[in-house]
Amino acid sequence: MVDLVGQYQEIKEQVKSSMDNVLNNAAFINGPEVHAFQKELEDYLSVKHVIPCANGTDALQICMMGLGLQPGDEVITADFTFAATVEVIALLQLTPVLVDVEPDTFNIDPKAIEKAITPKTKAIVPVHLFGQCANMDAIMELAQKHNLFVIEDNAQGIGATHTFEDGTKKKSGTIGHVASTSFFPSKNLGCYGDGGAIFTNDDDLAHTIRGMVNHGMYKRYHHDVIGVNSRLDSLQAAVLRAKLPKLDVYNAKRRAAARKYNEAFKGQANIVLPKTVNDCEGICDCCDCHVFHQYTLRILKEKRDKLVQHLNENGVPCGVYYPIPLHSQKAYLDERYNEADFKVTNQLVKEVISLPMHTELDDEQIDFITKLVIDFLND
Ligand SMILES: *Cc1c(COP(=O)(O)O)cnc(C)c1O
Repeated sequence: MVDLVGQYQEIKEQVKSSMDNVLNNAAFINGPEVHAFQKELEDYLSVKHVIPCANGTDALQICMMGLGLQPGDEVITADFTFAATVEVIALLQLTPVLVDVEPDTFNIDPKAIEKAITPKTKAIVPVHLFGQCANMDAIMELAQKHNLFVIEDNAQGIGATHTFEDGTKKKSGTIGHVASTSFFPSKNLGCYGDGGAIFTNDDDLAHTIRGMVNHGMYKRYHHDVIGVNSRLDSLQAAVLRAKLPKLDVYNAKRRAAARKYNEAFKGQANIVLPKTVNDCEGICDCCDCHVFHQYTLRILKEKRDKLVQHLNENGVPCGVYYPIPLHSQKAYLDERYNEADFKVTNQLVKEVISLPMHTELDDEQIDFITKLVIDFLND
């Protein structure tokens, strides 16, 4: 699914020398590499504050802590996402309210959000799933109208740009009040272990969060709030500093692979291509609306599971993200949920398949994969 070894070969010298630097300085935690990376990422995103932390799950949790959400507050998020999103809501004893997604973009459906808003609702967590921003025009409008926080889960979307209806553009993760991201190795900007970060343009919130990631300390050994221990280590920051300047190139390579997949699959009766929100399908070189963390198709006529098996038998890795809706997971069952409200997610879990997508994918590999898929579906 990913080729991190191939990618490493290209940046080996840089990574090794910056890791060497860290080893020679022995500033393993909060060293100069972490500060430098933080500044470089702030510049890349055009955001005022980046607060590095230990992983993307912590990042989400700390966003919610920083906003002062309290037990019983309702937080609306997508039924079709990685469990980390709902996990931290529940862990903080907030009330997760899962809602359905859109069938074409796989992203949270603003109409479903609106329907789920109650007087207890405090925040919306849109997930920029598979590398494309959720409908942030509609979501920001709803948030404003109902006085809600927006926490963007940008673990899959780093580097993507959202173009608003009025033409203004913003990088994903810089649109809501605060955002989280993950540097898990397979993410679009991945380190060689765990890592994450929080982004915000709010000075006060940034200050609160900077203390929270470090045991609630704003002055050494003075603990003003309950915090956590969540830090990005300097070795990971060194890797990220080597990769950040290449992020746009990496994402362009992903888009090029997506374009090639799309061309091959166009017109196939049992395949629904991933939708990109703008007219150039997000796969022209001028546009970065989709960074294809995953290239995900819908396979119709109940052929998905057999296709997965066929690809595996032929040595082609593939993934089903995600096979079970969160509202059906044992940990997150809630009697208030009604199956009729999750029609799209219930359908998607049976149809989606993600094909290999990474920066080292070549034309020959894509030709091989697409031919396997098409021949199988037409058989
Ligand atoms: C990967 C991911 C996370 C969690 O990130 P970790 O760094 O693995 O904790 C959260 N949300 C989404 C949507 C993700 O894809």
